[in-house]
Amino acid sequence: MLHTSQIHLSKSALKHNLEFIRQIIGQETRLSSVVKGNAYGHGIEQFVPLAKECGVNHFSVFSADEAQRIRKTLNDNTPIMIMGMLDNDQMEWIIKNGISFFVFELDRLEKAVSIAQKLGIPAKIHLEIETGMNRTGFSTKIFPRVLQYIKKEAAHLILQGLCTHYAGAESIANYHRIKRQEKIYDRAYKRMTNLGLSPELKHTACSAATIRYPKTRMDLVRIGILQYGFFPSKETLIYYLTRHKIHEYPLKRIITWKSKVMSVKRVKTGEFIGYGTSYLANSDLKIATVPVGYGHGFSRSLSNQGRVLIHEQRVSVVGTVNMNMMSVDVTNIEGVKKGDEVIIIGKQGDLEISVASFSDYSDQVNYELLTRLPSNIPRKVID
Ligand SMILES: *Cc1c(COP(=O)(O)O)cnc(C)c1O
Repeated sequence: MLHTSQIHLSKSALKHNLEFIRQIIGQETRLSSVVKGNAYGHGIEQFVPLAKECGVNHFSVFSADEAQRIRKTLNDNTPIMIMGMLDNDQMEWIIKNGISFFVFELDRLEKAVSIAQKLGIPAKIHLEIETGMNRTGFSTKIFPRVLQYIKKEAAHLILQGLCTHYAGAESIANYHRIKRQEKIYDRAYKRMTNLGLSPELKHTACSAATIRYPKTRMDLVRIGILQYGFFPSKETLIYYLTRHKIHEYPLKRIITWKSKVMSVKRVKTGEFIGYGTSYLANSDLKIATVPVGYGHGFSRSLSNQGRVLIHEQRVSVVGTVNMNMMSVDVTNIEGVKKGDEVIIIGKQGDLEISVASFSDYSDQVNYELLTRLPSNIPRKVID
């Protein structure tokens, strides 16, 4: 083992999650698999081909570099949609490669038209409109001008989508804001069709909106977190379970993160473990070191808090999490030795460390914890 830990991705878990999503959205709505943030830490190069094998045929990313990684990995024409950053310099490569992208500024739109004209290839655009998130999107005020421009330059543009993004569909606290966003979106769509323009796809929903606001699903949903086996928030999960009278967690975690025991040693009562005085041995202890630290994505805030699985038992992190390793208390486990498997996220025997429980200890939400997993930890697809 060259690296100190490994990430495994389960194909059967992904299949299961995709079926779950399909059952919610039905056969008519398309699914775009959101793989920004290195596929939420799962690894674009491993996750994307796996998803493709499982029937996914549309991917969404944040930026041009991520689109490039998908093209390189798949080496085919699978549709890719850039939802965020794209430098005007990258526009030529994007249009040449038939990649679609959000447009939320006149500057980008004009650049798209001029490059499309030069290449003789129309640019595939998704018009993003401002509905209340106040992040990106054309405002209602400027929208008529944008539409006129699009009409004028129709020869160089393919209007693939009309889109927006909801400001917190994972919490009921934002209910009114979301409803208002829906209304503003509908009005923009009407304005568009009144001018004889009609987008191929209407799309607005992320995972939370897909579950909570069925009307937002429209022609395509942009699903990130659900496909990886997590709910966008506890509230969304509880809503889903109550609503459908289900008692079991309906998704499967794709990711497993594991390492090995690096060394085992005994510590006498009264000694401190690791840096400083954060952990005092109250009795004679047996300590195992695990070569994973905050530099590998195991947050320092899990010092004296985190748990891992060894020999099918839950053991505690003792002392501070170091840059490259942590110590765990294995006093009550017979026969722990160098090389034994350590599960940081995942299952061992009957026990499981889920990302959610992990992030409860460390105050990180699923999204953040996953995307912080360093890209250099090797990822491997299993079953
Ligand atoms: C990240 C993102 C999504 C997916 O969000 P999830 O909550 O992971 O489903 C959808 N749309 C946009 C614009 C995004 O940035």
